[in-house]
Amino acid sequence: MPSKTKSKKSGKSPAHKAVKYVYSFGNGKADGNGKMKSLLGGKGANLAEMTRIRLPVPPGFTITTEVCTYFYDHNRTYPAALDRQIDEAIAKLEHAMGKKFGDVSNPLLVAVRSGARDSMPGMMDTILNLGLNDRTVRGLAERSKNERFAYDCYRRFLQMYGDVVMGVQKRPGEDHEPFEVVIEELKKELFPKDPHVSDTKLDASALRTLTDRFRKLIRERTGKDFPEDPREQLRGAVGAVFGSWNNERAIIYRRKYNIPHEWGTAVNVQAMVFGNTGNDSGSGVSFTRDPATGEKVLYGEFLLNAQGEDVVAGVRTPEPVIKLQVEMPEVYRQLQDVRQTLESHFHDMQDFEFTVEEGRLFMLQTRNGKRTGVAAVRIAVDMVKEKLIKPDDAIRRIPADSLSQLLAPVFDSRARKTAEVIARGLPAGPGAASGQIYFQANEAEAAAHKGAKVLLVRVETSPEDIRGMLAAEGILTARGGVSSHAALVARQMGKVCVCGASDLQIDYSTGTLHVRGKNYRKGDFLSIDGTTGEIFAGEVKTSPSDIARVLIDKDLQASESHTYRLFAQLMQWADQRRKLEVRANADQPDQVEHAVAFGAQGVGLCRTEHMFFEGARIDYVRQMILAENADERGQALAKLLPEQRSDFAGIFRALGGRPATIRLLDPPLHEFLPHDEAAQRDLADKLGISVDRVSRRVKELHEFNPMLGHRGCRLGIVYPEISEMQARAIFEAAAEVQSAGIKVRPEIMIPLVGFPKELELQLALVHKVAAQVQKERNVKLSYLVGTMIEVPRACVVADEIAKSAQFFSFGTNDLTQTSLGMSRDDAGSFLPRYQEEEIVRQNPFAVLDQTGVGKLMELAVKQGRSTRKDIKLGICGEHGGDPDSVKFCHRLGLAYVSCSPFRLPIARLAAAQAALET
Ligand code: ADP
Ligand code: MG
Ligand code: MG
Repeated sequence: MPSKTKSKKSGKSPAHKAVKYVYSFGNGKADGNGKMKSLLGGKGANLAEMTRIRLPVPPGFTITTEVCTYFYDHNRTYPAALDRQIDEAIAKLEHAMGKKFGDVSNPLLVAVRSGARDSMPGMMDTILNLGLNDRTVRGLAERSKNERFAYDCYRRFLQMYGDVVMGVQKRPGEDHEPFEVVIEELKKELFPKDPHVSDTKLDASALRTLTDRFRKLIRERTGKDFPEDPREQLRGAVGAVFGSWNNERAIIYRRKYNIPHEWGTAVNVQAMVFGNTGNDSGSGVSFTRDPATGEKVLYGEFLLNAQGEDVVAGVRTPEPVIKLQVEMPEVYRQLQDVRQTLESHFHDMQDFEFTVEEGRLFMLQTRNGKRTGVAAVRIAVDMVKEKLIKPDDAIRRIPADSLSQLLAPVFDSRARKTAEVIARGLPAGPGAASGQIYFQANEAEAAAHKGAKVLLVRVETSPEDIRGMLAAEGILTARGGVSSHAALVARQMGKVCVCGASDLQIDYSTGTLHVRGKNYRKGDFLSIDGTTGEIFAGEVKTSPSDIARVLIDKDLQASESHTYRLFAQLMQWADQRRKLEVRANADQPDQVEHAVAFGAQGVGLCRTEHMFFEGARIDYVRQMILAENADERGQALAKLLPEQRSDFAGIFRALGGRPATIRLLDPPLHEFLPHDEAAQRDLADKLGISVDRVSRRVKELHEFNPMLGHRGCRLGIVYPEISEMQARAIFEAAAEVQSAGIKVRPEIMIPLVGFPKELELQLALVHKVAAQVQKERNVKLSYLVGTMIEVPRACVVADEIAKSAQFFSFGTNDLTQTSLGMSRDDAGSFLPRYQEEEIVRQNPFAVLDQTGVGKLMELAVKQGRSTRKDIKLGICGEHGGDPDSVKFCHRLGLAYVSCSPFRLPIARLAAAQAALET
């Protein structure tokens, strides 16, 4: 809270002792520190922290996020005290630099940099060289004795200021930025034979011409003159940074990563250091470890004679930072030191930006580096071994979802041998992806929406391509290095990405990709390997990950796979810490085996009907449905019985003593009948009945709203013989497997119960059959009977239901549908809008609606326990594999979560994280 109120209370007082809005840093001292990310933003806090630990940071100051909040709360105006605080900070900065803002002979130039609490790559805009105008540029030229450099700074400033503050940007239908067009035109005039020369070939007079043309462009496009006064420039830039917090791409990004809109951004104003003074200068971005693989090497890139934006924007393709070893050995040595210092101070892999001015290294930013799932695991496990962190930290810091990248398929090794490599780029986001190529983000998005697998192919990407990148399987660019926008975003989204494939010639206007004499058109298939950088023609077959090969296919030894060993170590730590058990949703013996390999401690949901489609079973099922009386139905069920029994026996064997929750038949019967005429005729022939009878029955079973129709326990109540058959199949299988010496723990689950009586009726039936089988086979079986909690009524009367239910399993798919009155299959038409309007933050069918559905679950837990203290509680909806929902279940005190086999490692890690949070 602003200290205004505080000071009033403490009586200390006067109005002039206002809130501190500006925090200075420089020369080893800083008002702020690394812990103040919410106030100073991530960048500002770490600039302060790096200053404190004596890394070479150019001095400057940070305007707090509170000012941003004030700005939006007060109709885009600033607190009264701000101006004076900025004046003071500038005076301090001028003193530190020995230069003055706007001084014609020795001008102070600054960078104006945004910086939110969490880094938002490419989302906000940075302005460099602020303070230049027609007069100060001459001062800079004279002082530096480098006219080319001065005009290079000036034209960059005009370009950035014109774009970010004055809004001179690409108009709809234009493919290139207007400033770039002016540059290209000038190059054509000056180098008619070689119009694609690098910017560094433009000399002082060319750059000066450019500044004139840029100013003219600004006037033409905006009707306003570029502001000469540095203070006015600064005001404009600060306003633009605050304004950019609410531009569309920032909003989209925040929505995707769940960053609250209230946080706001800070603004950093910092003295410029210059990477563009000549060939002993330059600018770079590095990671203290490889962010793609996690390997412990200095990794990154560097551009000689360049300002930082060139590296990040991917305009020129930079060189690997390792080359500095030869080109600037002293700087390289310093970088290695910095790397050590950063990691031992921040205890995490850092992503840092630096500039070298005439051989001197300056640090401009550091933050915890984004990394792939593979790298996240490797870095965390390695850092535990290096004693930089503890196993608990390793668990906390790996986003549980990122494990899905470790489990993702790679290209099949045989298929890749025969595949044609058409070009190579830089491996920037690991994994294998193939799809149809699209060159425009919106087209890629539209195609993906229609169900196509899509690769987004661009010269380079920019923040406006985000939606297309999200929709694509993979991203391929012709320009830009491993820290280009494409690479950064892909890594964070976990997308496959190959960038800087310079052999690609992309023609946006015709929608063609030209590679070494071959053309590929929009819609053609390509495949990319983000681990090696290879680009293949056509669709290349994929194969399972190392983890899957070791655990499931068993064609790879654990000892042969480094990735697997890291994974196994992490899982061991997670399993030691978590309280929640994990189970799998699995319906077949082989699925159960896979699940056990991935750590399942049981089956949380076996959907019996999934087996109905195997082999001849569907015919028996249909015969059962078409039966005109109980007798006929009995005959059909008698044929189904042995089939179900052998399925269950297989599952019990695969479980080797672990529990299995088996749900009795749930979907409405018409789902099993054919709906088109030809198929109905086939069926009639097969069963020797008339086609009329089939079509009449289909019509009878038709429902207006099947989700709320004759399904769940309602089936077993109207047709008790179905439940009886299923119960019999389960118990006979149990008896069989148990007599072979394997422990069996069936948990029979009655679906869609809302009234206690529904459960009681089904329960009586199950117990009756159990007694019969035990007597017939002369065995003693131990089993549970319980219910799925999936309608709000069940939550409300859970105390009554718990009188007969030995367990509850939350069926949160249906519980979400029935609580929200929202059909999962129809929500697609409005949910995206709901998310945009922030009516819901996330898709409630993927991430549990904790405040709504979660409340009902809480109620059910409380009620259930009030009747039956030790009632067994679990969840078996999709949410069981979603990290946030898993954590919620932990807090709710459930015994287990159940999810699909490939999500199990994610659930194990999330459960461990939940245990560490409490
Ligand atoms: P982003 O958040 O997009 O990375 P930054 O504020 O870090 O934006 O600025 C982008 C680039 O501008 C940086 O990579 C850095 O090289 C350059 N830059 C920022 N501040 C300065 C500075 N004080 N002197 C020189 N270059 C700078
Ligand atoms: Mg930027
Ligand atoms: Mg940066």
